[in-house]
Amino acid sequence: MADNDQVSRGFRLLDCQEASKHHFERAANRLKMKRRLRDWILKPFREISVHLPVVMDDGEIHLFQGYRVQHNNTRGPYKGGLRYHPEVSHDDVRGLASWMTWKTALLGLPLGGAKGGITCNPKAMSEAELERLTRKYTQAISMDIGPSQDIPAPDVNTNEKVMAWMMDEYSKLRGYAPAVVTGKPIDLGGSPGRLDATGRGVAIIIEQWAADNNVPIENGTAVIQGFGNVGYHTAYHLNRAGCRVVGVSDTGACVYNSKGLPVEELIKHKQETGSVKSFPGAETMAPAEVFGLQCDFLVPAALENAIKGDNFEQIKARAIFEAANGPVCPLVEPGLTEMGITIVPDILANSGGVVVSYFEWVQNLQQFSWTAETIDMELKNKMINAYRQVVEKATAEQVSLRLAAYMLAIDKVAWASLVRGAY
Ligand code: GLU
Repeated sequence: MADNDQVSRGFRLLDCQEASKHHFERAANRLKMKRRLRDWILKPFREISVHLPVVMDDGEIHLFQGYRVQHNNTRGPYKGGLRYHPEVSHDDVRGLASWMTWKTALLGLPLGGAKGGITCNPKAMSEAELERLTRKYTQAISMDIGPSQDIPAPDVNTNEKVMAWMMDEYSKLRGYAPAVVTGKPIDLGGSPGRLDATGRGVAIIIEQWAADNNVPIENGTAVIQGFGNVGYHTAYHLNRAGCRVVGVSDTGACVYNSKGLPVEELIKHKQETGSVKSFPGAETMAPAEVFGLQCDFLVPAALENAIKGDNFEQIKARAIFEAANGPVCPLVEPGLTEMGITIVPDILANSGGVVVSYFEWVQNLQQFSWTAETIDMELKNKMINAYRQVVEKATAEQVSLRLAAYMLAIDKVAWASLVRGAY
């Protein structure tokens, strides 16, 4: 969602596609990958762009633009979320789709990568309008998605209700198929643990990193930027592990208390008032101040390019855990590294969502449900295993965790591409 000419304190902002390419090329250089193979695995396999006429509540017809970019299905069906946002562009969806390919490869899931987006302002739309828009979009892409083709899921501003509409519309057109989307309500084939999976996964990675770096989680402090589904559940699980969540921000404000914030009360306050602003017992400040707060773990959990030229120098955290996709502008990363701040990359840190999506899909295909305990255990196993691989690779190659994660992921996709062949 970055304007190409936008500059933040001398550092250009990259859109998701540029950011993804930036990281990819660095890893491919390190792997000495040939140009043709790079193009093969970096360029999206298929792109769908649709115009969706939707009858609004006032009777007027509004035309929306939607996308689905199917980046790569070499290792399994395309997989990735659907985002509703006023500024989502085709290029962003391209970049976000490629991140899903690297994420599923890194985690060893038998899935590829895709992403969908609709340019709309869901906050200004009624539920009925959102339902009509979702159904129109599902109709438009129904021939290109499916349980063994492409499996959408929630992303920014979409949720289990949106997934239920998609599943219903797709099933009307193509026959009952709960496995066509993940992140559904539990009673419609959703999985225990999917709602909080991304946040739970971020907390698992933070705990592991903390243990490896001698920062006892019980004495640790966290700051969360963005208090939506991912931010809230990260805060919740960190809190349960004994970590103090000292700062939380949303688009309206940032709240701070050095003794720790009661996250469950804070979410209630946000639900009632629309923002964390003026939460009793905490100091309220401007949202941008969140990045200057002293803490061990900084968790950007909103949108891309949150950490950029005009704020990265204020950061006082020991490590940044990318709960959002692409929250650190790649051009400020060298500066953060120089400041001694570790960055745990999105394709690892926020992969809990797609891991439990994979479990949901498997349960749908098996027509058998797993318990919440099994899901949590399997999630933990997969995430810690991937974390270990990334740390080992980074140590062996003397590179950042991001570069190590990309090297592992793109190597797997390249290998699968060459073994499957192009005949
Ligand atoms: N939207 C989430 C992500 O960016 C989850 C995708 C999925 O579960 O397919 O990873």
